[in-house]
Amino acid sequence: MDLYEYQGKQYFARFGIPISAGGVADTVDEAVAQADAAGYPVVVKAQVKVGGRGKAGGVKLAKDADEVRLHAGNILGLDIKGHVVHRLWVEHASDIAKEYYASFTLDRPNKLHLGMLSAEGGVEIEEVAETNPDAIAMVHVDPVKGFAEGTAREWVARANLDEEAREQAAALLVKLYTCYVEGDCDLAEINPLILTPDGRVHALDAKVTLDDNATFRHPEWEEYAATETEDPRERMAKEKGLNYIGLSGTVGIIANGAGLAMSTLDVVTQVGGTAANFLDIGGGANADVMAAALEVINADPAVKSIFVNIFGGITRVDEVAKGVIEALARVDITSPIVLRLDGTNAEQGRALLAPHLSDTLQAEPTMLDAARRAVALAG
Ligand code: GDP
Ligand code: MN
Repeated sequence: MDLYEYQGKQYFARFGIPISAGGVADTVDEAVAQADAAGYPVVVKAQVKVGGRGKAGGVKLAKDADEVRLHAGNILGLDIKGHVVHRLWVEHASDIAKEYYASFTLDRPNKLHLGMLSAEGGVEIEEVAETNPDAIAMVHVDPVKGFAEGTAREWVARANLDEEAREQAAALLVKLYTCYVEGDCDLAEINPLILTPDGRVHALDAKVTLDDNATFRHPEWEEYAATETEDPRERMAKEKGLNYIGLSGTVGIIANGAGLAMSTLDVVTQVGGTAANFLDIGGGANADVMAAALEVINADPAVKSIFVNIFGGITRVDEVAKGVIEALARVDITSPIVLRLDGTNAEQGRALLAPHLSDTLQAEPTMLDAARRAVALAG
């Protein structure tokens, strides 16, 4: 789960990472009240879960209440890369001497944490990586050994942070690591991390992605779930206990097993189609699960055909076939369905389905044939 900047900053603050004084506002009047409380000048910032807000006009400095009114009025309702702004963060503006970049994330292939630090912050890190990769100092951290203050000191020197910023930056980076690990983040990024003209180092932006697998450890994350704008299809699937991810294509996909579901996406793409979703119905492909899966896919207006790809292992195909027949009796499906049934008891399963086949419920012998048929039906 991604956090908004204001949530990320409040998360940082819990771990002692310095941020500017500020507050959230959903209206122009609230923005003025927050600005009065933070002290002028302030910066008015769009809260959307997308980067590059500054360039898009979503970050504005204001020296008094009139300017806050002007900018808050302009930014609320602004569309930034498809995200409409409903909330602002208003904080006391900082004077900036230098902008740095700092982050921790997971280096999966190496099974280590990866810290990235650069004296060239403020701009998108992808851009720095492209144009000046040497300006990014990396550090790998063994999660068992942890991240020592000494490593942090060596790192800030290697990254060429200004001399006067190094000690504070090293201490801050240790806190950022603690936040990343104890706070169960997949990403904890500060861009820019600034040095002020009077020699203070603090976070001016926050990008935090929480590891959803750690939700059980964090009852306090509930408040973030409340502000999350979830895909309505994903919400519906979650309510039904399905392992579903919404995508933007036209072929709805149901498969048993995550591996088969992914292969199904690949095959649909290979034959020129686009998948509307990932959906793994797991081992128990009974009528309840099948009906729930079909309902979720059917509710997606972009879906033009549905590809049900089942390979029976422990799950017996005749049981799946019964599930499909019963589910179809319960759910009114608007798109044609193409079935591929194989594996344990496939013959019996196909025989059960044979009398039910029609233009709207078709069967193909192989995964590739079924994918071609489903893609053709999706137009
Ligand atoms: P992003 O564009 O979405 O990454 O939003 P940021 O929070 O990083 O803000 C974009 C840029 O606005 C920063 O890189 C700064 O240059 C500038 N900015 C943000 N806050 C302040 C501030 O308090 N004072 C000044 N002078 N500039 C700021
Ligand atoms: Mn930023």
